[in-house]
Amino acid sequence: PFTSESDNISVLLQAFERGGSFFLMGHIDPDGDCLGALAGLSNLLAGAGGDNEIIVYEEIPKKFELAFSGLKTGVSLYDEDIPLEDCDALIALDCSDIDRLKPARDRLERIREQSGRPQLINIDHHEDNSHFGNINLVVPSAAATGEIILDLAEKAGLEIDFSAARALALAILADTGFFRYSNTSRRVIEKVLRLMDEGVDLYEINRSLYASHRPGVIQLLGRALTSLRTAAGGKIAYLKLRNIDYQLTGTGPEDREGFVNYARDIDGVEVGLIFSEEEEGIKVSFRSNEYLRVNDIAGKFGGGGHPRAAGCLLDCDLDKAVETIIAEVEKHV
Ligand code: 5GP
Ligand code: MN
Ligand code: MN
Repeated sequence: PFTSESDNISVLLQAFERGGSFFLMGHIDPDGDCLGALAGLSNLLAGAGGDNEIIVYEEIPKKFELAFSGLKTGVSLYDEDIPLEDCDALIALDCSDIDRLKPARDRLERIREQSGRPQLINIDHHEDNSHFGNINLVVPSAAATGEIILDLAEKAGLEIDFSAARALALAILADTGFFRYSNTSRRVIEKVLRLMDEGVDLYEINRSLYASHRPGVIQLLGRALTSLRTAAGGKIAYLKLRNIDYQLTGTGPEDREGFVNYARDIDGVEVGLIFSEEEEGIKVSFRSNEYLRVNDIAGKFGGGGHPRAAGCLLDCDLDKAVETIIAEVEKHV
């Protein structure tokens, strides 16, 4: 899928060849693609002799730890003391906008205004990417950011070792729902086959992503399913999770990943949503089946994403968020 950004690719390949030091960051509330791409790129760069460090904002959820097993470099939790300016470039993965680097964004922008450093490299597959980097490699046709990293590695002739292969496979499998979503293609399946040649075990990745829940997570799912409501004559289905649901089950927002699919997977439903009461506000996840561009709707509320999977964050209470968003979605289904 590399076509329109070929100049940026050669600049990137040169940067990787020169080595140097890189910080690697993904988006807040990270998913499998984000973390798999981070771990994969980290391993590839380390293998090529460069210096890099992954920075995350929270502990890595257990189901994604597999991507980090065998990692050659360190992972640090972000804090204000991390010297962001002390690297040749900061590489943002799977982030459509600089806002997605939120915990670090304000400081990063301040430092860059003062010192011109660090350079920002933006590697992503969201079609609404704002091209916020000094170098931008945005490939909307890629199924996952992990796929872009794999293409880069092959173009650069970097050695793809087992750990990198597993991390990149996890990234691609997470963002394609194990080849069930609309971004699945022959091309992407063939790429995963190539990673299997390095010894990657799909069953192991499946177990890790989808079958390693704590009991509380299944109880949380039960509470979410009980909240199911429909609208627009059954074309919209939505779930709600309140703070109390997380408290009573000993879980957190990182545990609701995938729940929104139950709303989407109802016969006759075009849009499935989940509304979740969280520290930062009401998080809304959108999924659609056939025609509705949910990234356009999320975009009206300051969010974004892909045509069939998007999200936004609202600063109001849960009931108000449901009312506002459902009223907007009803206009379009
Ligand atoms: P999820 O619903 O799984 O959190 O996210 C689905 C897709 O929407 C992902 O591609 C994610 O990057 C994007 N997304 C989710 N929340 C936001 C948001 O608040 N802002 C933006 N720009 N994109 C989001
Ligand atoms: Mn993501
Ligand atoms: Mn992604």
